[in-house]
Amino acid sequence: MSGRTHLGMPSFPDASRTSTRNTTLRANLGHATRTIRGKRDRAVAELADWDRLRAAGAAVKDRTLRHLDHYLEQLEERVTAAGGRVHWAPDAAAARRIVTDLVRATGEREVLKVKSMATQEIGLNTALRQAGIAAYETDLAELIVQLGDDLPSHILVPAIHRNRAEIREIFTTRMGDWGRPAPEGLGDDPAELAEAARRHLREKFLRARVAVSGANFMVAETGTLVVVESEGNGRMCLTLPETLISVVGIEKVVPTWQDLEIYLQLLPRSSTAERMNPYTSTWTGTTDGDGPREFHLVLLDNGRTDTLADTVGRQVLRCIRCSACLNVCPVYERAGGHAYGSPYPGPIGAVLTPQLRGTGTALDASLPFASSLCGACYDVCPVAIDIPEVLVHLRERVVEGGPATVRGTRTTIRPAAGHAAERAAMRAATWLLDHPGALRSGQRLAARTRRLHPRRLPGPGAAWTATRDLPRVPAESFRDWWRRNRPEEGTDR
Ligand code: SF4
Repeated sequence: MSGRTHLGMPSFPDASRTSTRNTTLRANLGHATRTIRGKRDRAVAELADWDRLRAAGAAVKDRTLRHLDHYLEQLEERVTAAGGRVHWAPDAAAARRIVTDLVRATGEREVLKVKSMATQEIGLNTALRQAGIAAYETDLAELIVQLGDDLPSHILVPAIHRNRAEIREIFTTRMGDWGRPAPEGLGDDPAELAEAARRHLREKFLRARVAVSGANFMVAETGTLVVVESEGNGRMCLTLPETLISVVGIEKVVPTWQDLEIYLQLLPRSSTAERMNPYTSTWTGTTDGDGPREFHLVLLDNGRTDTLADTVGRQVLRCIRCSACLNVCPVYERAGGHAYGSPYPGPIGAVLTPQLRGTGTALDASLPFASSLCGACYDVCPVAIDIPEVLVHLRERVVEGGPATVRGTRTTIRPAAGHAAERAAMRAATWLLDHPGALRSGQRLAARTRRLHPRRLPGPGAAWTATRDLPRVPAESFRDWWRRNRPEEGTDR
């Protein structure tokens, strides 16, 4: 069983240096993201009120987050009244323990899984494996990742980095180890590959007695959970087993069904460029003679309350995981999802991961810098998360340190290692801009010596110019030019 985790992965610059040299990966990603981008633009352009819908999506999420305690308590009450049980998991370890204990209590040694980012976030598959429980992924792309002993690299299309020939190879060599083998002479036609996966999974659907899912939304007013998907495999997981355990981040709650209506329009057009999702499954507690007999909801915090305490960063909790920001990001398209070292790659990963996990490791401290700040992610985000604003905010935290909330306690974060030169440069720039006379003298000196300037910086600045040219110093500063050409208008000082 796939036991790979993102733990101990290198920092973003190191990982992306490797992935950008992989020409197959870049070709696969470039083709896939270009195709999805075009389709998404057409689907969004069909709606004349998209901007208003987007503003409503952001406003409802913000209002819900301001009263999150109230809506979560309402949700718990309604789920319980409908025959479900709610478990509160403050962190990943608690969530793993709760789910493992629940599965053990059923006496089963196998669980089906419907694609869930929250369970990847907490490393559930590895924990279950260590407890002697096999977890089978049933989303087609997740199945490819699992059979290939790989890690997901995209929120919606976890195997986006694989092409058809690679998938055929994985199915042919690995399916037999996990259950029904791939048929003899399997080709790489998508319909043939999907059919092989369908037959492989069908055996598991008919046998499974426990399933683990995530959810896209939770409706507080009725205690209803919602999963949207394209394949229908998720619905099989949600309805066939006797016990259903759903692990869901606390930010996924929406107050009412009327609020849900907004997101059921925003999500499909932004993610798969569809007018609505082919399968929308909703379930409320348990119902006699229909679906699972036992239902458990594990509400996952794992850094979300700390994120909520950050007035700039909290907007990332609006995210509905549509992945539109990944598909437009020039950095993601070239570096690929694995470089982000987290189940959440791309622009949203660069702002969500360092908030959920903190900036204590080299990898997490490097993520806010994994962006060109071009702003394309903000333009496409259906809930208007200003990702560039949060990136800059987190960069400041990494370089300068500052106040943050960690496990519910206000604390002061120390600056991350390795940014001393940047800090010194910023302090020097601040002093220079505060002293116009010194700035003018410096500019004149730089202009006079411009022919002697190196094209690469020495010492700690070398890393900066390893991938950029130093801009050439002009022969005359703008201030001197202004003074010479507009003497009648004067100068600042
Ligand atoms: S940040 Fe916005 S665009 Fe990116 S996945 Fe979340 S909702 Fe979608």
